[in-house]
Amino acid sequence: MSQLRFEALKQLSTRHKVHVDSPPNISKIFGENVFGNEQMRASLAPAIFKKVSAAIKNHEKIDETTADAVAAGAKTWAIAKGATHFTHWFQPMTGGTAEKHDSFFDALSGIERFKGSELVQQEPDASSFPSGGIRSTFEARGYTAWDPTSPMFLYGRTLCIPTIFVSYTGETLDTKSPLLKALKSVDASATKVCQLFDKDIQHVVASLGSEQEYFAVDEALYMARPDLVMAGRTVFGHAPARGQQLEDHYFGTIPARVYDFMREFEIESWKLGIPVRTRHNEVAPSQFEVAPLFEEVNVANDHNQLMMDVINRVGEKHKLKILFHEKPFAGLNGSGKHNNWSLITDTGVNLYAPTGSARDNLLFLTFFITTIKAVHEYADLLRASIATPANDFRLGANEAPPAIMSVFIGSQMTAVLDELEKKGNVKIEKGDNMYMKLGIDQIPEIILDATDRNRTSPFAFTGNKFEFRAVGSSDNCGTPMTVLNLIVAEQLDNFYEAVTKEIDKGTEKRIAIVNVLRKYIKESKSIRFEGDGYSDEWVKEAAKRGLNNIKNMPHAVNAFMSKESLALFEKHDVMSHKEVEARNEIKLESYIKKVQIEARVIGDLAVNHIVPTAVAYQNKLIVNANGLKGLGVDNKAVVKTIKEISGHIDIITSSVNKMIEERKRLNKLSDTHKKAYGYCDDVKEKYFDVIRDSVDKLELLVDDEDWPLVKYRELLFLR
Ligand code: ADP
Ligand code: MG
Repeated sequence: MSQLRFEALKQLSTRHKVHVDSPPNISKIFGENVFGNEQMRASLAPAIFKKVSAAIKNHEKIDETTADAVAAGAKTWAIAKGATHFTHWFQPMTGGTAEKHDSFFDALSGIERFKGSELVQQEPDASSFPSGGIRSTFEARGYTAWDPTSPMFLYGRTLCIPTIFVSYTGETLDTKSPLLKALKSVDASATKVCQLFDKDIQHVVASLGSEQEYFAVDEALYMARPDLVMAGRTVFGHAPARGQQLEDHYFGTIPARVYDFMREFEIESWKLGIPVRTRHNEVAPSQFEVAPLFEEVNVANDHNQLMMDVINRVGEKHKLKILFHEKPFAGLNGSGKHNNWSLITDTGVNLYAPTGSARDNLLFLTFFITTIKAVHEYADLLRASIATPANDFRLGANEAPPAIMSVFIGSQMTAVLDELEKKGNVKIEKGDNMYMKLGIDQIPEIILDATDRNRTSPFAFTGNKFEFRAVGSSDNCGTPMTVLNLIVAEQLDNFYEAVTKEIDKGTEKRIAIVNVLRKYIKESKSIRFEGDGYSDEWVKEAAKRGLNNIKNMPHAVNAFMSKESLALFEKHDVMSHKEVEARNEIKLESYIKKVQIEARVIGDLAVNHIVPTAVAYQNKLIVNANGLKGLGVDNKAVVKTIKEISGHIDIITSSVNKMIEERKRLNKLSDTHKKAYGYCDDVKEKYFDVIRDSVDKLELLVDDEDWPLVKYRELLFLR
């Protein structure tokens, strides 16, 4: 193995520059591979185009004739651009995306064909996608169905059609279906509330801009680390002498190789209509970020999923492996996918942007305070929505948002809410300027200064949007976005109901609104936290406030199955009880498998690579110690090292053995829940760190020439 390490290091010197064509103006290539609005308008009859646009806006079904026309238009467009195949592109619960290609060419008729029915629905052989028991119990077949709200695109020579994935009996088996339903729900609930202020508002669209963090490592070094290949993260590795303590990487110059890679994946993304905008180094060495301009949530999420694929492919060309894992390296920052989120009306108002107009500010405060209240009411569900095996390594680690849900709003907004709460008892007389009396007549544009840019909060207000930072870098935003939009929809419904009740009792509308908001401010105070989310004090303080700190996924996802959560999903028609249950089952099964894989990788590397290396080195030392003794020279230092090595070998061997026994015991369990808890508490929590600690100590003791694994300092300082 140590040979593999040195061969990999040698390959580094053979890397040469990959040529990247300079793009013409971005505006010339942007969206050239998308069958978007413009392309549809150009290729469809005006009446058909109008029908499609209306159906998209109103979340309605598209009829057969219209679908036929769209299919014909899309086929002509795609074939003219060199397409040979089409595929339904969907997002199963395995994470990532799935596709099955069919040729346009029909050998029977000898021509290329694409019918509306093929656009609308397909039956992929889905029997090997996880279904949490739904399919085996109810129906073996599933089908994919066109999502017209996300445009088709040409990827390579294949026309990709964004679709949902549903079992034959109607249960959803993907991350997109519940998301679309939650977005419909938040549209309805938010519009109703908006109409208390402005009857012209007919729709509210949720927006998402997701900042994607990732690490880049050289392909040869990656291949020489079986743990990276198998688990996506390093299970061993001593921190490098120089980590991120110099804080010199963040916003530093981008290494040349990575810069070329970035330029190329950006060009490919632009062609696909992905509005990539920002690129920079992140905090840890070899960590980077890409952020697009925000878009409607469903489209933004499709774009994020697609972009991750583009990034992987372009990375290969540049001999880079891109790590989307939340915590590929211990002791360095993990990676997240900050979900910047807001609600925007069809009249163009961002409901989370304070303005100079007092009336609009009451609307802003309504959404602002209701959202905080929603997080307060459903904190555990929100926590559950970002639970993945990999995110567990990041959340609560001392440089990532904690697993405790809280909301940061900054000092200016804190002052506004305090004022509103305090002045709430002020009597408003006829003819008074209510806004002035309540101190909400003037909310300045929120400019968050450096101290206000709290990076430690899992859910932060950033001036005109909320930023849900706890989402993991490898995750699909579908589930977190489903939950966030759903809980806000529910809270908006409750708000509307409470306000209407007061109005019915004769309270003036604006006063009724303020009264309910005041109540919400008081009730949701415990979820607000402005301090350092990484600190131990916060953990204690949060416990005092009664906020949960659920560190591991198997425990966190229980919140999906609570009575309140199930009722919420069903009430808004987002998921049935059966669907939620099936999803939890899938998540727990995947958790077990992932921990199992890691445990095997750890065991194999430790016992078959690390221990033999340590023993061989120890033998050299023993020869040395005996030689010294024969010469009458003091050998105490060498003997001490020999003993230290023995100690670590003991810990490693006995821990790996105990871990194997524990797994044998757990594998006999048939209850998925108990098994997942066991893998979490009795395998991962109990042994992973103990074994790692001794392996990492050995890394410091054993001769560098003999060490089999590529070291952190080699992996991380890409130039
Ligand atoms: P910051 O650096 O303050 O986090 P940026 O302007 O870089 O903010 O934006 C980060 C992400 O937030 C980008 O993807 C951006 O498009 C997105 N964003 C900006 N405004 C909104 C909004 N109103 N709704 C959703 N996302 C937004
Ligand atoms: Mg940000």
